[in-house]
Amino acid sequence: MALIARHMSKKTPQAIRGTQDIFGADAEAFAFVVETFERVRRLYRFRRVEMPVFEKTEVFARSLGETTDVVSKEMYSFEDRGGESLTLRPEFTAGIARAFLTNGWQQYAPLKVATHGPLFRYERPQKGRYRQFHQIDAEVIGAAEPQADVELLAMADQLLKDLGINDVTLHLNTLGDGASREAWRAALIDYFRQVEGQLSEESQERLEKNPLRILDSKDPRDKPFLADAPKIDAFLSEEAAAFFAAVTSGLDAAGVKWVRAESLVRGLDYYRHTAFEFIPDEGSASAAALGSQSTVLGGGRYDGLMESLGGAPTPAVGWAAGIERLAMLVGAREEQPADLIIVVEDDARVAEAIGLIGDVRKHGFTAELIASGSPRKRYDKAVKRGAEVILSLRPEMGRGIATDNPEAGVLGVLGAYR
Ligand code: ATP
Ligand code: MG
Repeated sequence: MALIARHMSKKTPQAIRGTQDIFGADAEAFAFVVETFERVRRLYRFRRVEMPVFEKTEVFARSLGETTDVVSKEMYSFEDRGGESLTLRPEFTAGIARAFLTNGWQQYAPLKVATHGPLFRYERPQKGRYRQFHQIDAEVIGAAEPQADVELLAMADQLLKDLGINDVTLHLNTLGDGASREAWRAALIDYFRQVEGQLSEESQERLEKNPLRILDSKDPRDKPFLADAPKIDAFLSEEAAAFFAAVTSGLDAAGVKWVRAESLVRGLDYYRHTAFEFIPDEGSASAAALGSQSTVLGGGRYDGLMESLGGAPTPAVGWAAGIERLAMLVGAREEQPADLIIVVEDDARVAEAIGLIGDVRKHGFTAELIASGSPRKRYDKAVKRGAEVILSLRPEMGRGIATDNPEAGVLGVLGAYR
């Protein structure tokens, strides 16, 4: 009863905190990001996949690791009516890895896939950080060679440039193979344990569970100890060092600018070898637009992930980028004016207008019809809205065409009306 009574309240329900209703010029910027991504992923021959928005909770818990921020604090998990624990996807990679294993996509390896859509994380909402946000995502699964990393990064670089974003730079690191990473981890624990009492609470907690993450800390109490922390380079196996060298020389050959970021680690357990983020350059317009939420695109190699889901070892590399953050860098994009507006000033000519506008649209031109409201005000409405060509169907003079552009392509379709 109480539930029903509450639902019958007259108050308009509010949107959920951290969700957004995107409209107008912002929605155009969002669409521009997605359209550009679709175009670029085709250039690089990435195949499209559509993924479920929810998965069994264990897909994320096992892939990302229980100690990660995402799994321990940010997941939207719930029991469904059958008592199963499900989670709204906080990222794409784990679900795509699950699909690779359950669908036998090994037969397509190396498999290059791309997707985009909404993700959900229980975070503190702020500028550039939402609880429902959207990503574009690209993955290469079943490719052990550094060339896969290079191609994936070249695609990211071209995407950003094609979006007109020229003031972000690729920050690149290697986490080494499993053995290098373990040795580095042990050295980091030894190092940070000596100053444990001076670290932030969060870093003290990370010390045992996920010491690499301390390097990522923005807390001023941790910062003084970060510069002298042990570096991965001292622990890299020969193979891991050769792998990283092949990635960097490939990037140079591809003309992708990069900088070495020795303390870049990425939050998730599954990363091996290459780890990277595209970050706005200091003092740039993009840095000003994004504030502290500065990573626009991030990813790396996750050779260990398939095994954590019970699959055979499968090398893979991928990245994801927040669509909202990219859209902020693109800036609001005005909705384009139509090629043609047809104004019906004579209500007897509505059918003629409907036929004509259909023709125009079939020829691939954008067109709007204005045939409602006071007939005398319709023409002014069209002028205010703006179009390449305005065609007015009037009682007295039969027809009237207004345009500043005699080259407007749509005039060809209008033929008899000229
Ligand atoms: P951050 O350090 O900003 O929390 P992250 O490491 O959690 O980022 P990833 O999981 O790597 O981010 O996701 C890749 C990209 O997705 C980020 O670079 C960012 O553009 C975007 N992103 C992540 N979380 C959010 C969010 N809550 N709201 C909007 N965009 C997000
Ligand atoms: Mg995060």
